[in-house]
Formats: sequence, C-alpha cells, structure tokens
Amino acid sequence: EMFGQLTSGLESAWNKLKGEETLTKENIAEPMQDIRRALLEADVSLPVVRRFVQSVSEQAVGVGVIRGVKPDQQLVKTVHDELVKLMGGEVSELVFAKSGPTVILLAGLQGVGKTTVCAKLAFYLKKLGKSCMLVAGDVYRPAAIDQLSILGEQVGVPVYTAGTDVKPAEIAKQGLEEAKRKNIDVVVVDTAGRLQIDKAMMDELKEVKRAINPTEVLLVVDAMTGQEAAALVTTFNLEIGITGAIVTKLDGDSRGGAALSVQEVSGKPIKLVGRGERLEDLEPFYPDRMAGRILGMGDVLSFVEKAQEVMRQEDAEELQKKIMSAKFDFNDFLKQTRAVARMGSVSRVIGMIPGMGKVTPAQIREAEKSLKVMEAIIEAMTPEEREKPELLAESPAKRKRIAQDSGKTEQQVSQLVAQLFQMRVRMKNLMGMMEGGSIPALSN
Ligand code: GDP
Repeated sequence: EMFGQLTSGLESAWNKLKGEETLTKENIAEPMQDIRRALLEADVSLPVVRRFVQSVSEQAVGVGVIRGVKPDQQLVKTVHDELVKLMGGEVSELVFAKSGPTVILLAGLQGVGKTTVCAKLAFYLKKLGKSCMLVAGDVYRPAAIDQLSILGEQVGVPVYTAGTDVKPAEIAKQGLEEAKRKNIDVVVVDTAGRLQIDKAMMDELKEVKRAINPTEVLLVVDAMTGQEAAALVTTFNLEIGITGAIVTKLDGDSRGGAALSVQEVSGKPIKLVGRGERLEDLEPFYPDRMAGRILGMGDVLSFVEKAQEVMRQEDAEELQKKIMSAKFDFNDFLKQTRAVARMGSVSRVIGMIPGMGKVTPAQIREAEKSLKVMEAIIEAMTPEEREKPELLAESPAKRKRIAQDSGKTEQQVSQLVAQLFQMRVRMKNLMGMMEGGSIPALSN
C-alpha cells in the first residue's frame, strides 16, 4: 500500500499520547521521535525532517486545549497541516498559454517513466477538452520514437517525428510550427533521457528550451528514488530553469519521500503524479489529499477542524464586540496572535481573510516570525499599557523600556503600536463604522 510504512510509523506517535490531558514538551518528546523516524524511513532528507519536527513541536506545545479535542487528535491535525504546507499547500495547476499553443517540455532521466508520461499527459489534456500533439525529441533511441508513435495512436493524438538525424531543438521547433498550423492547443515535447545527469544533456535541454520558449518545463522524476528525486529537481531547476515536477510511480511500494520533499528542497511544485501504468493514472498533485492519505485519519481531521471552527466563531464574536466599542487593545491583539498560532497554521488563517489570496511558504515563514516578535513585545508591556495603547503612543520612554525588556528594537515596538491603531481603523472600516477612526501620531 502506498505510504503504508509512513502511515504506520506515524500511528505509533499518536498512540503514545492516548490518555494524556494536554500536549507538553515532555509528553510529545517520544511521539516526535516516532514522527522523525517515520519521515526518515520514508526517505525524506534530514534537514527537511528537522525543520518539520521542530515546527510541529513548537506548534503542538503552544496549543491551548480546544474543547473536546484530545491531544493525540490535536497532534494528528498539526502534523496534517504541516504536511500540507511541506508539500506546497495548494494544488499547483498546469499553466496554459494565453494565446497560441501551450508548450510543455518534458525532461528526465532514463527509465523514470517519461515516455509513459507523454502519453498519459496527452490523455489527460484530451479529457480537459484540449487538442494535443506529441513531439518525439529523443533522437538517440529510435525505439523511443516508435514507442511514442504507438502511444500517440493509442491515445488518438498526432505525434510529430523527424527521425534521428535532426537536432532535438530543430525537431521541437518544427513540431511547434506544425502544431500552430493545425491549431493544436498543447504541444508536449519529449526529450532524451540519460542514465545520469551530464553536460551534453543539460546543453541540449537548454537549446530546446531556447528554441521553443515553453510554457511549462517539467522534470519527470521517479518516486522510488526518494530524496534523490528532490535533489534532481533542484539541479535541473538551477541548470535549465523548470516550472515544476511530475512524480511517477507513486503507486506500489513508494516510501513517499519524493512527494514530501520536492517542493521544500527545490522550491518547485509537483504539478502531476503518476500512480500506475495505465493511461488514466496521471493526476494533479493535491497536497491536502496526499496528507490525508498519508495519515489515513479523515474522520479525526474533520472533527478537529469543526472544533476549531466553533472556537474561531466564539473568538470572532467576542472580537466583534470589542471592535464595535473601539476597545480593541493589546490583550486582544495577543489573544488573536495566540489564536492564530494555536490553529497550527498561519497559512490557513491568512487564506481565510478575504482578498488575501494565495500565500507562499516564504510569506508564511515571514508571518510566523513576526508573530513571535509581536508576542515578545506585548509580553513586555504592563497590564495597563496593554489595555491603553494610547499610553505607548504618547511615551517614547515606555516604548524604549519595552524594547529593552523584549529584546526587540524601538522601531519594532513603534511599528507594533502603530499597527494596533491601524488595525482598529481597518476593523472599524470593515464593520462599516467610520466614526472616530483616527491614528494618533507617535510622539518622539
Ligand atoms: P522512460 O525511459 O523515462 O521513457 O520510461 P518509460 O516511460 O519507458 O517507463 C519505464 C517503466 O516504468 C515502464 O515499464 C512503465 O510502465 C513504468 N511506469 C511509468 N510510470 C509508472 C507509474 O506511474 N507507475 C508504475 N507502477 N509504473 C510506471
């Protein structure tokens, strides 16, 4: 079963928390060891595992208890959200050209399933209602050209071939011209794979890329190669610049390391995954579904989500009252900050704010960092200062003291104070209550 080993490795982590009341540094130590081991056994690289485990531990311990949610369930949810984040968060769709044919250039080492992907991709695109043409650019193996022609016939798409005497870049260009003449929507260009990366292969790919200016450059990697696949994606991206990866052979006894680490290691998304030898076994890569499959605990996940939803609702109502009375102070600010951390994933919360759109992993890390800064600064305030932010707006001396106590700069403190007032205004505006929303200037 796919990811079976990983799934059972993680299960032993939850089991160690049965009967606990809360999550603490002490009681998550052993479960975190299990999680670490399970990920390493799935062939995720050590630095990625380290970051993952650290992030999950921090969030787990910072979590307040959500009513009715048991610690093991909470940890399942935290690991799930972090897995989704690790795999890139959102599904990364194929990009289609605005005008003219979309050109997809496929690269990859020999035997990874590149030729199969060509056919699967054509089949997939046809299902999307797009006309498709394959271009046989692997001139070193006459058998590869034949194989592609046969597959094209099976799928019912034209295959452009020009034998083995023409340079791949030239074949690709001719193929693209032909596609334009025939008004084809998508051209998939197959290129030669080698047993290993070498300079000739990279040079050839660069040349093909220059010749056809592809919309997508996708590297096909084999899931069986685990973290090596992630390393390959990184290398190809640095060498030729790619737009994403296709991970094949995610069926069978794949350990899952490739699916888990490509995005984190290379910064490039997995766009599609192959999960079998049949034409229909190619599908978009959905990080949340994948995480769900790995954990195999759909019911727990949706239960914790509902509990969080209820809590958010209560918090939101409380907050709304505060805003209506223009009393939103640093205590509320801190509560909000912690609520966000408690929810395990800033990304989800940001995603919920209308108009924020998609967030990148870098933005999420940035947001998490600034949350920590805020917490430190607010914790250094006296209760009175928290309730009356005006006191801080008026007194540089107070801001200086807070800066010193929190180990942050005076500028950071001033920024946070200003931010609170801006937030009051913005929230009032959001509520459609415009009166009294002035931002006091900080006096120096
Ligand atoms: P290429 O050398 O990269 O063009 O590789 P091929 O497309 O010829 O595929 C190599 C082998 O892997 C073939 O036996 C394929 O049937 C098999 N293969 C390709 N994709 C998948 C997949 O997603 N799952 C499984 N189980 N086998 C696959």
